Amino acid sequence: MAAAVKAEGYGHGLVRVARALDADAFAVACIEEALTLREAGIDRPILLLEGVFEAEELASCARHDLDIAVHHPEQVRMLECARPEQPLRVWLKIDTGMHRLGLKPETVSTAWQQLHDCPAVRSDIGLMSHLARADERACDYTVRQLETFAAAAAGLPGERSLANSAGILSWPQTHFDWVRPGIMLYGASPFVDSLAPDEDLRPVMTLSTRLIAINRLRKDEPVGYGGTWTCPEDMDVGVAAAGYGDGYPRHAPSGTPVLINGREATLIGRVSMDMITLDLRRHPEARIGDPVVLWGEGLPVERIAQLADTISYTLLCGVTARVKREVIPADG
Ligand SMILES: *Cc1c(COP(=O)(O)O)cnc(C)c1O
Repeated sequence: MAAAVKAEGYGHGLVRVARALDADAFAVACIEEALTLREAGIDRPILLLEGVFEAEELASCARHDLDIAVHHPEQVRMLECARPEQPLRVWLKIDTGMHRLGLKPETVSTAWQQLHDCPAVRSDIGLMSHLARADERACDYTVRQLETFAAAAAGLPGERSLANSAGILSWPQTHFDWVRPGIMLYGASPFVDSLAPDEDLRPVMTLSTRLIAINRLRKDEPVGYGGTWTCPEDMDVGVAAAGYGDGYPRHAPSGTPVLINGREATLIGRVSMDMITLDLRRHPEARIGDPVVLWGEGLPVERIAQLADTISYTLLCGVTARVKREVIPADG
């Protein structure tokens, strides 16, 4: 299992996550992330999912024992010209239908032979691809990608890797030798139509803040920038100290849930940089200083993502540097 820890471990902290996970290998997007892991003493295999961006990086990959995807003829040429201090473990990446990265299926056997003949490449060449629509359970595109993968890889030796989280949870025939989970490791569902609890996943991140003000407003008084929400009656409005400057989505609409003291309340008015405003009509017990959960334990991040017209991945990755991280040991 190669754990995807790119983008700061999906916002959880790259080194923190790598140390916490007992993964057979780690997958990252760029050499900087890989070197950060090596500097932190992580000695498991590390795969650069997009390979190197320039030939100069190959020497560094050899020195730090980093494995690379090769997804383009240009990267094959770089390897043919390179003389690294030791040969590199290479994963030949096949485009089976994502049409983003990967060698065209009809060019795979030629590229494989070129890599096989290349002194800079280790003999155990892997074969990988990426699924474009595995999160849609009713869609047969994954089956077609599997067929394309099988045809392109036919007759070639080597380990195979295809599955992301959605493939792992929904498409067992994609598992092969190495799976590459990302979002599921962080306790969020990869599917468009389910929440973490439906998949038996528990959130790793809980984003929380506190109430910093409670204000009695009168009927018809507008709340926040643009006055987009108006009090329908005399009521208490709470102010919580978190906004888009912390990574909370600016587009979360009025009605988006939060948890105050563990009970659902709703956002009203616009999200601002440092604050959100909350409807306290059903929370007469709320006091300044009370905890407010924005997503995580008890409030799946997918719900917030759906309402804000985005996906859980962007919310988790987008928590900004000013948010204080606190590590709480899991309770088993
Ligand atoms: C990010 C990534 C993964 C993990 O995807 P999830 O949907 O988060 O499980 C797997 N493989 C590749 C190539 C990736 O870029």
